[in-house]
Formats: sequence, structure tokens, C-alpha cells
Amino acid sequence: MKLRTKLWLSLVISAALSMVLFGYTTVWIGKAANKGYALLELNPLAQSVVDAVEEHPEFQLDALKQTLDRAHADHPAIRWVWLDDQGHSIYDTAGMNPTFTFHDLAMLMRKMPERYLKDNEVPILTPATKNGQTYFLLMSVPASAMKQGEVYFLIRKLSSLLTLVLPLILSFSVPFVVALWLFSTLNKRIRKLNLALNQLNIQSDSPLVELVDTSKDELGQLSQHYNSMAHRIRSQFAEIQQFENKRRLLLSNLSHDLRTPLTTMLGCAEMIRSGNYEDQKELQTRAKIILQRCRYMDKLLDQMLDISRHDAGNLTIRLENHNFSEIVRKIAAEYIMVLDGDQIHLDVEIPDEDIHLPIDAPLMERVLRNILDNAIRYGKDGRYLGIQLFAEEHAVNMIVRDKGKGIPPEHQAHIFERFYRVDSGRQGEGLGIGLAIVKDIVEAHDGSIEMSSMPNVETVFRIRVPR
Ligand code: ADP
Repeated sequence: MKLRTKLWLSLVISAALSMVLFGYTTVWIGKAANKGYALLELNPLAQSVVDAVEEHPEFQLDALKQTLDRAHADHPAIRWVWLDDQGHSIYDTAGMNPTFTFHDLAMLMRKMPERYLKDNEVPILTPATKNGQTYFLLMSVPASAMKQGEVYFLIRKLSSLLTLVLPLILSFSVPFVVALWLFSTLNKRIRKLNLALNQLNIQSDSPLVELVDTSKDELGQLSQHYNSMAHRIRSQFAEIQQFENKRRLLLSNLSHDLRTPLTTMLGCAEMIRSGNYEDQKELQTRAKIILQRCRYMDKLLDQMLDISRHDAGNLTIRLENHNFSEIVRKIAAEYIMVLDGDQIHLDVEIPDEDIHLPIDAPLMERVLRNILDNAIRYGKDGRYLGIQLFAEEHAVNMIVRDKGKGIPPEHQAHIFERFYRVDSGRQGEGLGIGLAIVKDIVEAHDGSIEMSSMPNVETVFRIRVPR
């Protein structure tokens, strides 16, 4: 059922219920708490006593006294006086037997409505006839015996009903109209929200439909939450998709990167097994190829292991005091040997004094090797490799420079992201994991890594580790 129908139903039902409730409660509460004679009951009551007196054909004083005393016994608050047509009382239940002139009675009747309203006695005069003789029954009811509140609603014509009821309907309908207006505006806003939620498409590239609701109430807040939630979902979905694409690329690169060296290794191993080589030199070359490919595969598998370890939250570092300059010196010496004959100018600047640092030495060595490998692999065109180490008061800086093709500006912001490679199409050149691991390790040492690159001029990686 629609909300609008529900509201109408609830309004009509509650209005009907409230009317019934009003009727019942006023009658019950009136009966229980508003006891006494109603004005309209007095005339029939007096007439019933007159009828009882008139029942006897002959006038007998005893019979009259008996009837009035019985009436008095039934209604002790009321005084009953029987008058002849001259105003002399024949019997008075109060025992005072007054005499009234016509003027007195006329005044009593004239002032009756006023006396009724002003808490005085209410007189009712009823004529009676007996044996052709006229009598009067004067009934006097004290205000205390009357109902303490009475409401009269007099309708003589249907049009008068309208004039009485119309203002009532108008005044009662004001809260209904206000509630209806409020509800329909709320309903409109809820419908908008509903529509927006229905149309929310997290995959589409079309711009998001923002809900405009400047109100500060709960629905306004809900709209704001919807807007920010929709944006968050969109961007998270885009991130997940990007990540998924990278993961797929990684898998295809990985299988390629593992299969290519494996094919070469199989060929070389087969040649060695069958003795199908020319001389000792060729044997050495084939063995060297197998060794190189093994190392490469070992490195790839290491990186994969690192990533999965890191995903499982297992990248733990064991800090111990180490001579950092000694470590850099050792690694630099290795690279000098490796690059010997490659016509790469090596520029190493390491201070003579020892720089001691609390580090995880094997992990830090991996960091340096990774950056140096990249500089050689991607920057060899520049024929330059610079390694520089220097200490400041609060930190130790390690800088690796090359003058190769560098990293184009549009790629620089992403270079430390997982699986990010500048030339993502080329296979066999790594998986784009190395720098992400480097960054994780440096940050685990509370350090930082920065990169700046001007293609074909200079590419610099700078690592800072606090002392
Ligand atoms: P990979 O295993 O692909 O080398 P890295 O995370 O180590 O992964 O490097 C990410 C990418 O950054 C590389 O694919 C390469 O394109 C680029 N890169 C890294 N170092 C350099 C450098 N010194 N010169 C040019 N490009 C570099």
C-alpha cells in the first residue's frame, strides 16, 4: 500500500475513532461526574406528579398529601407546593404554606432562566385541573441539585446545522491539512531518495545524480549520506576494478615471465645433457644462462612471496644496530664488479666514517638492490649510476641516480603502486612490485622514499631513514 493511501486511511480512521471516543467519554464521564437534574427533565417530572394527583376523580387532601410526599421521598431535594387558583398553598412539602399573588408567580417564571444560570432555585409551575377547578403545582429545585454543567445544541433547520458545524469542521481540518502538507513534502523527498537509490549504477561512467536537499532534518542528512556513500562506492568500485585489471595483468605477466626463462633453461640443460656443445667456453655460457634465469625466477618468486606475506600482515622487521655505510659500501662493490665492462660510469660517494642505524639489514639490502637494479635495467642508456650516502643530524640519506630514459611525469605519481609499470605492455621486465615493496620496507623503518625524474636528464630515488 502506498504511503499516501496509508496516511489517508489513518487520518480518516483516527478522525472517526476520535469522534466515537469523544461521544462515549462525554456521556460516561458526564453520567459519572455530572450528576443532578437536567433542565429538560424538570417539566416531565412535574407533569408526572400532576398526572398522579389528577388520577383521583375527587379532590381529597390526604390523597394529594400522599402523592406529594411520595414525590418528595423520591426526590428529596425538590420542594413541592400545591396551589389553588388564588395562589394559596394547599400543601407544601416544606411545611411553609406560602401564598403567592399572580404577580409573584409571574416574576418567578420571568426570572427562571436567570435563576437557573445564577445558582439560585429553579421554579417550575405546572397547571392542573380537578373537578373543573384549576390548581398549580410549583416545583422548586435548588441549583445544587441541578447538573453542574449542561451543553445545548439546538438545530431547528438543516441550514443551522451547517452554520454550527462548519466552523467546527474548519477548525478541526487545520491540523489535518497541515499534516497532509507536511506528509506530502516528506513523501516527495522520500520518493526522490528512493528513485536515486534505484538508479544508482556503480559501474557506469555517467556522472552520479546528486540529491539536492539543503534541509538539516533527518531526511536532509540521509540525502547527504546518500551522496557521499554513492561517491565512495563509485570510487571504491573503480579502485577494485583497477586492482582487478592489474591482478589479471600480473598473472599473465607472471606466467610469461616464468615460462620464458624456463624454455631457455630447458634448451640449455638439454644441450648440456646431450653433450651437444662445441667447447668448454660454450658449456660455461650455457651454465651461466641457466644460473641467470634461475636467479631471475628466484627473484620473481621472492617478490610474490613478499606481496602475499605483506597482504597477510606478516611483514615483520627485526631492528638491530648496523653499520649502514658498511652495508652500502658492500653492495656498491658488488655492482662495481657486475658493471665492469658495461661502460657505465659509476659514481659512488660514501663517507669514510661509520653510520650506525637500527635497521633490518637483509630488508634494507633488498631495498638498495631493487633501486640499483632498476637504475641499471631502465636507466642504462644514460651510462651513469650514482650512489650517494650522507648523514644529517636526524636522518640518513641514501640517493641513487641514473641518467636514462627516466619516468614520464604522468606516471610519476603511481610509480610506488603495486603492479604499476610504465610500460605495462612489455613482458619479461618485472611485475611492477619492486618499488611497492621498497616503499613498504622503508616506511616500516619510519623512513620515506621520494622520486624525481626528468627523462633522459636525471632520475633520482632518495631514501631517508631517521637516526
Ligand atoms: P619492476 O619489477 O617492473 O621493475 P618496480 O616496482 O621496481 O617494478 O618498478 C616499477 C616501474 O617503474 C618499472 O616497471 C619501470 O617502468 C619504472 N622504473 C623504476 N625505476 C626506474 C628508473 N630508474 N628509470 C626508469 N623507470 C624506472
